[in-house]
Amino acid sequence: MLISCPHCGPRDLAEFTYQGDAARTRPDPASTDTAAWHAYVYERPNPAGLHREYWQHSGGCRSHLLVVRDTVSHEIVSAEFARKAREKTG
Ligand SMILES: [Zn+2]
Repeated sequence: MLISCPHCGPRDLAEFTYQGDAARTRPDPASTDTAAWHAYVYERPNPAGLHREYWQHSGGCRSHLLVVRDTVSHEIVSAEFARKAREKTG
């Protein structure tokens, strides 16, 4: 599987480190809603289809990326710098 790093170009998966699910939203740090914190810390969806994930190009430029991957076919639909993706969504 190849991930196309926006800085380095297409690279083998072995150069990347999975950083986690990019679809989760962290509760307000001041929140005492234990159910929301429990869900954030322990519950992991297992979607079939497109999934937003954080990856780091740890064996290359060390950039953090937002990757959209199809969990059924493992096709990489897109990869962009995580910071730029976050700026677009606010
Ligand atoms: Zn890179």
